[in-house]
Amino acid sequence: MGNMVKKVTGVNTPIYPSSTFMVSGARKPTEYFTQGIPDGEFLYQRFGHPNYKDLCVRLACMECGEDALLFASGMAATFALFFATLSIGDHIVVSSRIYGGTRGQIAMLAHKLRLKVSIVDIADLDAVSRACTKKTKVFFAESVSNPEVTVADVASIDRICHSKGKNILLVIDNTFTPLIVRPLTFGADVVMHSLTKYVNGRSDAMGGALVGKRSFIDTLRHPALGEAPLIGGVLDPKVAQEMAERFYQIEDRVEKASERAFQLAQILKRAGFSVHYPMLSLDRCPAGVLCGTGKEQGGGVLSVAFPTEVDGVRFVEAMAAEMFDDPLLGPWSLAYPAVSLGSAHTYVWCTTEARVQGEMKKWPPLPFASVPNGFVRIAVGDARDQAVFLLRFKKVLKGLGIPGSSLIDPMVQS
Ligand code: PLP
Repeated sequence: MGNMVKKVTGVNTPIYPSSTFMVSGARKPTEYFTQGIPDGEFLYQRFGHPNYKDLCVRLACMECGEDALLFASGMAATFALFFATLSIGDHIVVSSRIYGGTRGQIAMLAHKLRLKVSIVDIADLDAVSRACTKKTKVFFAESVSNPEVTVADVASIDRICHSKGKNILLVIDNTFTPLIVRPLTFGADVVMHSLTKYVNGRSDAMGGALVGKRSFIDTLRHPALGEAPLIGGVLDPKVAQEMAERFYQIEDRVEKASERAFQLAQILKRAGFSVHYPMLSLDRCPAGVLCGTGKEQGGGVLSVAFPTEVDGVRFVEAMAAEMFDDPLLGPWSLAYPAVSLGSAHTYVWCTTEARVQGEMKKWPPLPFASVPNGFVRIAVGDARDQAVFLLRFKKVLKGLGIPGSSLIDPMVQS
């Protein structure tokens, strides 16, 4: 019969489960190792693969960048970035409100590389300006911070980082707000993502990305000299393929989660709770900052400062215990007591990680902002019937019997 398989041209990119790739000549590997791998060519999975390429193109489009690097997790992405751009004794400026894991990674690197680290409140632009010097190498912040949901004014920070005599690499972790904020258009040099969240969208895989200028990405990607392949935490082809396919729905997922988070934030605010959500207060959302894409959305995450940790824990437990009979999906808990965000389900948790990181003494702790004990992060999912969800949510709040909750009437439409 011979090889009778007809060439198939599917509409979706197939998965390329190859750790190595055939090249067109015996001298090609040497050529690639010395001169870099040309666009569209592949040599070995750790240097990139077709599914990697596909997802890079989509991420670069979404973030208005030129190219991207993909990693097995968000933490691997930030590690590669810091390791590639910093040397012993360098000075960096870091937002005081960032994800706990990144706090830990910076504390570890600061100790090992003897970095000088200035931790600043990014809402205080004078403090940012004072911290950034001509010797500063990197500025790191989150577009919307985890877990306090405070907004970075990237355009103003850009003016400081790139003012006369300063050449600070401005890195923005945009994990919370893909499509809502485009930091590169505000002057950031590199955007980082935990793809584990909105880009993947279903809490079933992990990944990380750096997006920026082609020259910067090419330096980190070089097969022989680039920090990314030398560290080696590349994104798997199956995961990259799945994430690339899910790109078709990311806009809807982010929009839905944002709408729902805004509704929950309004309910909580009306009842007098201390709520952190960008669209609720201008001091948390400097004018225009979230509107770089023309979308007035605040993202799918909000935080509530409950009076005590006991109240926060009770809220999380009550949300998990409340069963929700979705007309389409059947019975589920209203929310899962879980870390992470950007999924179909709603996750709630008492945000202890940042605090725990601050208390760990393995490396000298850095003065990050502390997160109050009763702080709860709600990462709103994009699935489930919204009307039923809101009714159940109000019922949970009303049942808590803590200040504010008595004002909530589950039957009143928001
Ligand atoms: N950045 C932010 C804002 C995050 O929320 C997380 C994880 O929660 C990370 C980075 C780390 O990403 P990953 O868990 O994919 O390593």
